[in-house]
Amino acid sequence: MSGRQDVVADRNADILVAGTGPVGLIAALALARAGFSVSLVGPEPRLDDRRTTALMKPSLAFLDGLGVGAELAAAGAPLSAMRIVDATRRLVRSRPVTFRAAEIGEDLFGLNIPNTRLNTVLSEAAAAQAGIARLRTTVERWELTPGRAVAHLADGGTASAALVAAADGRASPAREAAGIATRANPLPQAALVLNFAHERDHESVSTEFHTETGPFTQVPLPGGRRSSLVWVVRPAEAEALAALPDEALSRRVEEAMQSMLGKVTVEPGRQVYPLSTVSPSRFAARRVALLGEAAHVIPPIGAQGLNLGIRDVEELTAIAGAHRDDPGGEAALADYDRRRRIDIVARTGAVNLLNRSLLSGFLPAQLARMAGLGALGAFAPLRGFFMREGLRPGSGLAALSGGLREKVGR
Ligand SMILES: Cc1cc2nc3c(=O)[nH]c(=O)nc-3n(C[C@H](O)[C@H](O)[C@H](O)COP(=O)(O)OP(=O)(O)OC[C@H]3O[C@@H](n4cnc5c(N)ncnc54)[C@H](O)[C@@H]3O)c2cc1C
Repeated sequence: MSGRQDVVADRNADILVAGTGPVGLIAALALARAGFSVSLVGPEPRLDDRRTTALMKPSLAFLDGLGVGAELAAAGAPLSAMRIVDATRRLVRSRPVTFRAAEIGEDLFGLNIPNTRLNTVLSEAAAAQAGIARLRTTVERWELTPGRAVAHLADGGTASAALVAAADGRASPAREAAGIATRANPLPQAALVLNFAHERDHESVSTEFHTETGPFTQVPLPGGRRSSLVWVVRPAEAEALAALPDEALSRRVEEAMQSMLGKVTVEPGRQVYPLSTVSPSRFAARRVALLGEAAHVIPPIGAQGLNLGIRDVEELTAIAGAHRDDPGGEAALADYDRRRRIDIVARTGAVNLLNRSLLSGFLPAQLARMAGLGALGAFAPLRGFFMREGLRPGSGLAALSGGLREKVGR
């Protein structure tokens, strides 16, 4: 046999995870630890991603269960309060609203972790995990039959499995092969991403300034006097800002933050991410379950994207475990589609609505946004509800109904 033929041998596993972004790596780890044999297909993870990810407590608890909690905690900065400031120059504006973890009995909402560290920790854990065969290549073509999914790989080999966990990103070739119709909308926005040092301590508070072009979000980094920034503006403005000399850009960042943290010094390395939304009509079909950005692409408001992706992984792992005989069969996929639908549709709907209300000059949209923020600022139980729901869907309602039961003495 030639060496080439060694490479092209079929890799047969229970589950094929397509994609080696954070969601694919987490899915491979979770599914292998649940006892499935896993082929993990994708290139080496990107280590030039300058973004940071705010992971909420339930996501961190899940990752801790996968054995990576301590390493991620060492790399992350705690988030103990989140503030929303209406920085629009519109006719109607709301007062700043602060959400404190202590208000709902938590020490912190979560941790902000640099993506390079997140991807490295996850990738090393996947490499060390028994049950994962790591195929450093990409899928060129899918063959999805009623009995099995076969991936034809760029290295000339094939890999087959009963279930495809498609974490292959916003353009998801697996989603397309499964024939899942998708609505994709480019947005008139791009995110400028960078890290910066500042004079005053951030005190573990993240502030999201809402502007007419989108949110400007400062998120704490470890050490007290460094933060990351996601600044959503029109695409041409993002490019213009990214091209500014350090000093001029530092001044612009400080002005946009109303000097809240004193003098700002931007660090080297800026990236611009064009924004879009992608909504598939369903979340599973033909042996393929969609995870992460293959299942939902939303603008970066309120740190929802990867947290939602981690809940996809949790649910898929539980459903595959309940359908061990055929984790990619119709019954398992129907369960996955049904159980992910409410969370994904509600989250993506809320984030898209908030984003549109920022962009909209339409007065009723402005009033609705102001009324919403105003009510949150004034009414602690409602704030508590949103904080709990922000951490985990259903937990706000559970706490509210628990509180009501206590009040009516039942
Ligand atoms: C500016 C910004 C800030 C954000 N901040 C936050 C935050 O604070 N909190 C949060 O929860 N979320 C945040 N998000 C969202 C978060 O970044 C995404 O949800 C997350 O990166 C999605 O990961 P993923 O693994 O699904 O996709 P990706 O990271 O895009 O990974 C897709 C993978 O699929 C692979 N692939 C593609 N095609 C193939 C193929 N044919 N064969 C094999 N592999 C393939 C790619 O190589 C890649 O490895 C932010 C997003 C942006 C843009």
